Amino acid sequence: MATRFALLIVPADAAEERADFSDSFTPADPSAPALSVGELSTQRGDGVFESIGVVDGHPQETEAHVQRLAHSARLCELPEPNLEQWRQAVAVAAAECPPGEAVIKLILSRGVEHGPTPTAWATVTPAGDFAAARTQGVRVVTLDRGYDIGAAERAPWLLLGAKTLSYAVNMAALREAHRRGADDAIFLSSDGFVLEAPTASLILRIGDRFVTPAPSGGILHGTTQLSVYEHLAGLGLTAEYARIPAADLIAADAAWLVSSVRLAAPIREIDGRPLAVDAPFTAALNAYLLSPRD
Ligand code: PLP
Repeated sequence: MATRFALLIVPADAAEERADFSDSFTPADPSAPALSVGELSTQRGDGVFESIGVVDGHPQETEAHVQRLAHSARLCELPEPNLEQWRQAVAVAAAECPPGEAVIKLILSRGVEHGPTPTAWATVTPAGDFAAARTQGVRVVTLDRGYDIGAAERAPWLLLGAKTLSYAVNMAALREAHRRGADDAIFLSSDGFVLEAPTASLILRIGDRFVTPAPSGGILHGTTQLSVYEHLAGLGLTAEYARIPAADLIAADAAWLVSSVRLAAPIREIDGRPLAVDAPFTAALNAYLLSPRD
């Protein structure tokens, strides 16, 4: 889908308190060049980003995304983002969203080498059609992520809990999954624990308990998983974080990949073994995820 709108943002100091940041925003032609060739985001993937789902002009979970952008920036030692400025950028972008589903991307790059400030921008793109993934489900294969479950704590410079722009590995994993005849992948740690998908979190149902891998184990803490957990708690259901051995994947009664734009995609096959899809529960989950959420 073609990007419909772009907004260049001059990042404000985190401490700056202003009611209106509109003079730090400049709309830009999304099809025209806008970045310097010296940009470290394009040369090194050195920056952080967020993808926010938008439903009929309503950006979902803006606060969780803006907070995670700040968390990622902290892990990457980028200047602390001004949260209010980013909230206002999201509101400006949301006003440009087409009806139906769309995506607002927020990008904060280290900028030009030795430059004065980071580079920041936001874009608006219509969302793809995920009806088949949401209803019929996805086939996944497990892929070795190449590090053990303790790597995130032992080696924070790997930036494993940050949503950085370095997604080449994630995209390569998706290509490998497609090569193996699947739609998506689930990463496993080298010592055999379940991590996440290349662009989604994993939630399993085992009996009447929902479990997701603990975010301390080198994965991104998903905003959709958090929102689903809030919803499940509201329904009186048990939803927990755990260190999940790979063997539990095939023992699960149901499983979903959840993310901000595709929302809940039930898993119908893992490494060639069928998994039951709970269609009514999944439909209710996606109805919740499509309702306005703050
Ligand atoms: N894990 C990874 C690696 C991701 O890239 C994403 C989203 O793109 C997620 C999990 C899900 O995060 P969210 O629910 O905030 O979209």
